Parts: sequence; C-alpha cells; structure tokens
Amino acid sequence: MQTPYYLVDKSRLLPNMEKIAWLRENSGAKALLALKCFATWSVFDMMSEYMDGTTSSSLFEVKLGREKFPGETHAYSVAWADHEIDEVLANSDKVIFNTTGQLSRFESESEGHVRGIRVNPGVSTSEFDLADPARPFSRLGEHDPTVIEPFADLITGFMFHNNCENADFDRFDAMLGSIEQRFGHLIRAMDWISLGGGIHFTGEGYPLDRLAERLKRFAGENEVQVYLEPGEAAITKSTTLEVSVLDTLYNGKNLAIVDSSIEAHMLDLLIYRESAKMEPDAGPEEWMICGKSCLAGDIFGEFRFPEALKPGDRLSVQDAAGYTMVKKNWFNGVKMPAIAVRELDGSERMVRDFTYEDFAAALS
Ligand SMILES: *Cc1c(COP(=O)(O)O)cnc(C)c1O
Repeated sequence: MQTPYYLVDKSRLLPNMEKIAWLRENSGAKALLALKCFATWSVFDMMSEYMDGTTSSSLFEVKLGREKFPGETHAYSVAWADHEIDEVLANSDKVIFNTTGQLSRFESESEGHVRGIRVNPGVSTSEFDLADPARPFSRLGEHDPTVIEPFADLITGFMFHNNCENADFDRFDAMLGSIEQRFGHLIRAMDWISLGGGIHFTGEGYPLDRLAERLKRFAGENEVQVYLEPGEAAITKSTTLEVSVLDTLYNGKNLAIVDSSIEAHMLDLLIYRESAKMEPDAGPEEWMICGKSCLAGDIFGEFRFPEALKPGDRLSVQDAAGYTMVKKNWFNGVKMPAIAVRELDGSERMVRDFTYEDFAAALS
C-alpha cells in the first residue's frame, strides 16, 4: 500500500471496546460514540457490538450515525437551522437543544420526540481556552438553573459535556458532585442524563471500577439513565498515520520531509501546539520530522531513531485516530492519506483512497 495512509488496527481498538463494554455492564451507563472525533464508518460494525450508538454535532453526523451505526442516534448541535430540523428529527432517537431559545423555536416541530437541553455547569478540565466549554461567555449550553426550570416539562433529559481528556477520576468525581449540587433538583425530574465525553477512562491505570460505581450511584440516586459520549477514549491508540520520508536536509538539525502534513492530516497538533508521537522513539540519531506543505511550522516533532533517515524510509505516527480523519483537508493540494483497516487476523485492506478528482470536486 502506498503512503500516506491512516491505518486503523482492530486489535488495538479492541481493548478500548472491551473497557467500554465492561463499564456499561458494571455501571448501567450507555455509551455513544461522538462522531465529531472519529467517523471512520468501516469499523462501525465492530464498534457497535460494544457501544449503544452515536452522538453528533450536526445534521450530517446525525445522518451518518443513523445510516452506519446500529443502535441509538442522539442529535445535538450548537444550533439547528430551520431547514434542518425535520431531517434531524426523522433520523434521531433524541434531539438535544443547545439553548432554551432553540427548544422554543422548534417546540411544535419536535413535539412527541424525546428532547433534552445542554446544560453548562461552568466548570471544566480543559487546559486550552480554545476547547474549554466553560470559558467566559461560553455559548455551549444553558448555565442558569432558573432559566432552565420553566422548560423542564418539555424535556426528559440533560446533556453535560465539560471534561476534556480528563484522566483524573477524583477530579471527575468532584465535578459531578458540584453538578449535582447545582442542578440536582432538575436532574431528579429527568429520565436520562448524558455526561458527555472527555473522560479518559480507557487510559492505562484508570480506576474503571470506581468510575462504574460512581456512575451507578449517580443513576440510582437520581433515578436516571446515564449516557457517556466517548470520542477520544473510544479510539485512543488504535490508529497510526503511515508515512514515507521523501527528502532529508541539514540546517543546524537533521530534517526529514515526509509525504504528509500536520496542517492537512493531523490538524490538532498544530492547533494545540503538540508533538506527534513516534514509536520507538529511541536511538542515537535525532531528527525533526517535517510535513510537505509550505507552512513553515508544519512539523510533526523531533524524535530519536537507531539510524540516519533517508528517502524511502517508512515511519508510523502513533495515536492518529481522533480528530484527524474527520478534519483532514486539501491544503496545498497534498494528497489525502488513504484509510486502511487491519483486521483481527492481521490482514490489511484499503477502505478509501483519494484522488486528484476528489481534490477538484471539493472546489468549483
Ligand atoms: C467533543 C464532544 C464529545 C467527545 O469528546 P472527547 O473528548 O473526544 O471524548 C462528546 N460530547 C460532546 C457534546 C462533545 O462536544
């Protein structure tokens, strides 16, 4: 297979799925895949054996979830347009409005549908202002219980999403406690509560048993069905971006240019100023791995190798599933990485490739 391509490895996806299944069983919570993080539907059949359905951020994600992922389809968006709402309702089991304003606007259209509101508890674990739902003046959800209260009879659930790659159970526990304190009287009037994504419970060493106990207690004390919406936690470490070295040069450091680009293929590395991960990152040779777009700062990071790199060498950028394939773009006309799946028996198959025609068709 020609590089560049994303390689989704089912044997590395499986441990995450098994942890999700364990958590469901031991907590009673349901788990919905957040499509905005990962929407590579070729592996949805496998994932749907371990998860209950999908949640979304737009009409198109609602439709993709309904079409490709067996199970429940939750429809959430920061704002629905008038011309979208009928299709949203036709393709979802629940609709979650971001504001009481949207609920009012679509009250008659959505009558008889299971409805909820996003609630913003005003606390989060995000280190980045850009990704912090509780940032000052946040538009993400209603934050005032007295504003929500008059609408409580029109809805049966709330969605909270305030965690961000939170690997600290005690912090999650404390935030859930503060949510109960502030919104408990409203929560107890609901049938279901989604606690969103961003809980890194598939990570190594995470106390899954304590999380299960806490979720079960929350569900029991408030008499609600709990939902989780894992994105990153569902697919973490399952995928690599396979690239090849095209050229090398020296400018105070050893530089290797590869047939990919962070701006086009791993955009979050650029947005959050993070380094890619390479394995094994060991050896006497130190090299900066650079993208082939003309953006000066298109750099995957600096890594160690056993030998000097040369054109034709293959590299595997690790942990490349989340917020990558859903964000890839045609900047510089750089060829989009194909998408391949490694089956549990080790065989690899390409499930999507991109051509010049796709590039041209994305513009007019
Ligand atoms: C982004 C998002 C998720 C998934 O977040 P991860 O950090 O990828 O787990 C879940 N729910 C909502 C509402 C989101 O906006």
